[in-house]
Amino acid sequence: MDLTPPPSKEKEFFDIWNNSPILREMRRREDLEEYCGECEHKSACGGTRARVYAYFGDYKAPDPGCINNEEVFFELRASAGEFKNEVLY
Ligand code: SF4
Repeated sequence: MDLTPPPSKEKEFFDIWNNSPILREMRRREDLEEYCGECEHKSACGGTRARVYAYFGDYKAPDPGCINNEEVFFELRASAGEFKNEVLY
């Protein structure tokens, strides 16, 4: 999925921020998955969507860098057995 916003020369930052369908969807906290979606801190936090996208290719997935998603972190670590010499965090 291409997440690249339109070229900035054609649109002002706030126009892109407010009207990009992908950025609007990314900010919609009620669509976050698993614990991030029900977390009491989701309005202020919401997790690191860039990290989530890098790990899962889905920016609505739970953030494995948060203690509240510890189970997701350990699942990722277990599935990365071939990278056992690298640190996942
Ligand atoms: S990253 Fe952690 S604190 Fe932030 S919304 Fe997700 S579960 Fe809540």
